[in-house]
Amino acid sequence: MNILKELVYPARCPMCDEILLLGTGKICKACRKRLVYVSEPVCRKCGKPLQKMEEEYCGDCMERRHYFKEGAAVFSYSSIKESVYRFKYEGRQEYGVYYGEQVRLRLGQKIRMWNPDGLIPVPLYRKKQQKRGYNQAEILARAISKEMDIPVYNNLVVRIRNTVPQKELDIQARENNLKRAFKIYQNDVKLKTIIIVDDIYTTGSTMDALALECKRSGIENIYCISLAIGRT
Ligand SMILES: [Zn+2]
Ligand SMILES: [Zn+2]
Repeated sequence: MNILKELVYPARCPMCDEILLLGTGKICKACRKRLVYVSEPVCRKCGKPLQKMEEEYCGDCMERRHYFKEGAAVFSYSSIKESVYRFKYEGRQEYGVYYGEQVRLRLGQKIRMWNPDGLIPVPLYRKKQQKRGYNQAEILARAISKEMDIPVYNNLVVRIRNTVPQKELDIQARENNLKRAFKIYQNDVKLKTIIIVDDIYTTGSTMDALALECKRSGIENIYCISLAIGRT
């Protein structure tokens, strides 16, 4: 039955989207060689890869404080850019299964140590989600949830407007940009420790905006995980 299914709907490599030969595994051989995982040295705060072993923090984290405790990511963004693009904009939601497994394999130990009560995917602005049909961060969070048996809280927080990249704003505008992006209607479940989940981490402004809102609603420990992270 499975073989029949694979003949009709052949599995595709979640990295290059080519059809996978039977028995190849989850990704194709060429992509396995190309993949770049985030590895030490990394920024102690946001998890971004660093150039030198003796550095502790990335340039971004030296400049400003974040509202989350610590962050971690699986892949270097440049090595899975196309894959994430298809996952996000071209309906390749099935990639989430592979991504979720990679999060468990690479970050599972760290996640267990953080001991979260739940995962909160970064919500999309409502109109954006209606247009796209799904929220890629939610798909990723659900995949991690399945791998690690941690509940997802998807309706706790609402995005009330889009965040503008922080770099384009002056200090005052930055503050406002952070303040009004998300709203938590109630923290009825009384979560104490959560992990915010997103597909890509760049400057951390989105994570910060959401982390700040989580703090305000009484969540004490906020961590974040992203599938891919860029260099500063
Ligand atoms: Zn491939
Ligand atoms: Zn950093």
